[in-house]
Amino acid sequence: MKNLSDPIFVTQPSLPELDEFIPYLEQIWKNKQLTNNGPFHQQFEKELAEYLDVPYISLFANGTLALVTALQVLRITGEVITTPYSFVATSHSLWWNNIKPVFVDIEPEFCNLDPEKIEAAITPKTTAILPVHVYGNPCDTKRIQEIADTYGLKVIYDAAHAFGVNHREQSICRFGDLSMLSFHATKVFNTMEGGALICNDDATKKRIDFLKNFGFAGETTVIAPGINSKMNEMQAALGLVQLKHHQSNIDKRSKLAHIYRSKLSPIDGISLLPERESMTPNHSYFPIFVDERIYGITRDELYDRLKDNGIFGRRYFYPLITEFPMYKGLESSAPSNLPAAKRKAEEVICLPIYPNLEIPTALKICSIISDCKSQAKQ
Ligand SMILES: *Cc1c(COP(=O)(O)O)cnc(C)c1O
Repeated sequence: MKNLSDPIFVTQPSLPELDEFIPYLEQIWKNKQLTNNGPFHQQFEKELAEYLDVPYISLFANGTLALVTALQVLRITGEVITTPYSFVATSHSLWWNNIKPVFVDIEPEFCNLDPEKIEAAITPKTTAILPVHVYGNPCDTKRIQEIADTYGLKVIYDAAHAFGVNHREQSICRFGDLSMLSFHATKVFNTMEGGALICNDDATKKRIDFLKNFGFAGETTVIAPGINSKMNEMQAALGLVQLKHHQSNIDKRSKLAHIYRSKLSPIDGISLLPERESMTPNHSYFPIFVDERIYGITRDELYDRLKDNGIFGRRYFYPLITEFPMYKGLESSAPSNLPAAKRKAEEVICLPIYPNLEIPTALKICSIISDCKSQAKQ
């Protein structure tokens, strides 16, 4: 039984009924193929490619390893342009490949890498751009591709938040050279841990599959120092079951997002994330931005007030990646280089949103935010 005073976290992983999953486990126990491109792995790859409407997909143990492998697949070296406003795994994937991240500021509106700032950061060592579709909201894919084409750069999208999002009438994962998805427990679609790379041609798909399996291209042929980042059969089986419930989960998220939007947009000093035109959202996150000069109290004060009421939002993404010790010393990490990112990081709170979040709870969260504002006025 759920108690009114139970804490409410920013997300709660979606799981199917256990009974629905058991037959898949029995199948695994019966055929004893646990990993290495087993039957569920093959089926999940196929169903996922259809569901997402993408030409080629490769499954991974998690999203971070998918990103680390993506950089190897395209032989990215030197410097890569990326965003400070993301989860640390984005730039950690560069670090693991000995690549220098070059941080560029974000669009103040959408929180994604600002295309207008990219060109100034390109040097002879730049080989790629690594943008993130933050909160599942698409980057300016058109402008980013134009720049990449002009300068001969690869584009790898961190689409960890963007499962199922469509953009300009196609899957968001079709943009750029490669896209990475994460199926981590906290993401909009999960296989407990898991991830994927999406590519546009058969040769790249082959190379991805070699590199995620130690570089094996045949029984006795190793073509590169690949890693082990394969998804196992339990993850793939869970993915198959999760897929059946995905749309209904998105519908529930959409209702909650609608409530938040209608109740919170009238509050002065609270701004919401606009949706990029020509997209179908997945409602993976619900960020709000607190302008303390208008709202009356600071973001952290509101964050604490919510906590006092058992509501545990998260300040994604605060601190910025560039604040962490391993990146802080880089020239491009200077706060003066990243004013928009710095401001967003100081203003943001992601509110709880997940399929099982009850509507009265969402309404209560809105009232707390509204009450804090009226009290601040006095
Ligand atoms: C979750 C996340 C990742 C890492 O994915 P894992 O599957 O947890 O390894 C990378 N980038 C972003 C933006 C994420 O939110």
